[in-house]
Amino acid sequence: MILAGERESIVKYSKQMLKSGLVVGTGGNISIYNREENLIAITPGSRDYLTLEAKDIIVLDSDGRIVDGEGSPSSELALHRIFYKNREDISSVVHTHSFHAASLSCMNKGVPAIHYLIACAGGDVRCAPYETFGTSELAQQALLGMEARRCVLLARHGLVSGARTLEKAYSIASHIEYIAGLYLTCLSAGQDIQPLSVEELEKLNREFVSYQ
Ligand code: 13P
Ligand code: ZN
Repeated sequence: MILAGERESIVKYSKQMLKSGLVVGTGGNISIYNREENLIAITPGSRDYLTLEAKDIIVLDSDGRIVDGEGSPSSELALHRIFYKNREDISSVVHTHSFHAASLSCMNKGVPAIHYLIACAGGDVRCAPYETFGTSELAQQALLGMEARRCVLLARHGLVSGARTLEKAYSIASHIEYIAGLYLTCLSAGQDIQPLSVEELEKLNREFVSYQ
């Protein structure tokens, strides 16, 4: 099977994404770009994660032509491909609809740098303007919103993270969801939360360099 390791890994993290509540139902999608082979492995569209197997993961070339796998790739293929084309530091993309991140995105709010773990994303996480799911416009806005970061929120939709490996992209998606929850809790307690200073963020970013 082509890209067997990548496909197994995508299946493992897809199931984990559902179990951890980062998505509901068939929402979200995951991909890995194998740069040597110039091939992308991505979850199929609208597929039940509980019964997902490695053979169900769709493999495409970098132009988006299907090389292996039955059925259709995720409707967000463009959202994944745009990062592989434009970001050398990203070889895996995770897209979730996690509750707290999506709540902030419904208010067009990003995730400010209120907790040291924000450094996993390279700094505060912006919220990209609303575009319809599955469109190239959404992909463009996500790319712009994630400039110099490893995560972005999509207005009235969810979260996208990217890193060199799926393990890291998934970890970023989980941690940013956690900080989004902290932020909403602080806001609902009526607290005015000061973000960490620029100097402290620079220091943290140096420590988190292994995420890149
Ligand atoms: P797919 O099931 O096509 O991957 O779409 C889910 C999703 O999250 C759309 O934004
Ligand atoms: Zn989505």
